[in-house]
Amino acid sequence: MDAQPSFLNQLFDKGFLVPSGVDGLYGRGEAYEEVIAGFDSLITKTVANDAAEKISFPPGMSRVAFEKSGYMKSFPQLAGTVHSFCGVDHDHTELLAQLAAGEEWTGKQEVTDVVLTPAACYPIYPVLAARGNMPKGGVVFDLQSYCFRHEPSQDPARMQLFRIREFVRAGTPEEVVAFREEWLKRGPAMMEAVGLPLHIDLANDPFFGRGGRLMKVGQREQQLKFELLVQIANPAGPTAIMSFNYHQDHFGETWGIHTNDGGVAQTACTGFGMDRIALALLKHHGLDLKAWPKSVSKTLWG
Ligand code: ZN
Repeated sequence: MDAQPSFLNQLFDKGFLVPSGVDGLYGRGEAYEEVIAGFDSLITKTVANDAAEKISFPPGMSRVAFEKSGYMKSFPQLAGTVHSFCGVDHDHTELLAQLAAGEEWTGKQEVTDVVLTPAACYPIYPVLAARGNMPKGGVVFDLQSYCFRHEPSQDPARMQLFRIREFVRAGTPEEVVAFREEWLKRGPAMMEAVGLPLHIDLANDPFFGRGGRLMKVGQREQQLKFELLVQIANPAGPTAIMSFNYHQDHFGETWGIHTNDGGVAQTACTGFGMDRIALALLKHHGLDLKAWPKSVSKTLWG
């Protein structure tokens, strides 16, 4: 037996995270939020001249938009849909009796118009499409959202509800590729400034099922996704704390997003896993924020 408490238990003991009884669903303590806020301000400084339109979305999005996005084709195992009681009086009586008896009680639950947001950029595409042709030069968004993935785990870096700050670029292929190239330089520089040892790797998503294996291969071969990886709490290897995704014209076609001259727009996004970054910082610099290297504290909190 390992005499050391797990990293997750250390985070609970020091109040960085607060357990809820469900793996991957935690409260955030004050010091943890300070770390998140510090890194958030570093991002804000980095993008000061990007003229990005900033939008915060709630952790739920339109089910219609979610269906259209094709998420269920690729990741049905990770999706979270919101259901509510839609019965009448006597159904309620029955429900209470079932609850009291510890029986299955969800029979009268029906799906609502809301699903939990699976990725911070998903809600923006229909918004962008509804605005009509983009201005010349395209657009860039600065988004943040809690996102949901149904993958309960005791690895603190694999939460079910977690915060993402994400930049989405839409425009011509040249504009979109330039955006990703820029972030592939910025990301490592930011992590270096906060003392995180990292490497960048080609990546693939956990596409579901037999068809998914082909999608994984295609994603790697076309170099559509890169990840920035840091060792956190998974003994099997490092965890992605940032990702760089080139969607080509997938969302442009799906949603009818057009460039200024009426062509189908391309898109790319860069996501910061804010919780994973906070955890990586705590893992590498320790659970006493006051003892962190001066250069790191200065970068985060000025
Ligand atoms: Zn995205």
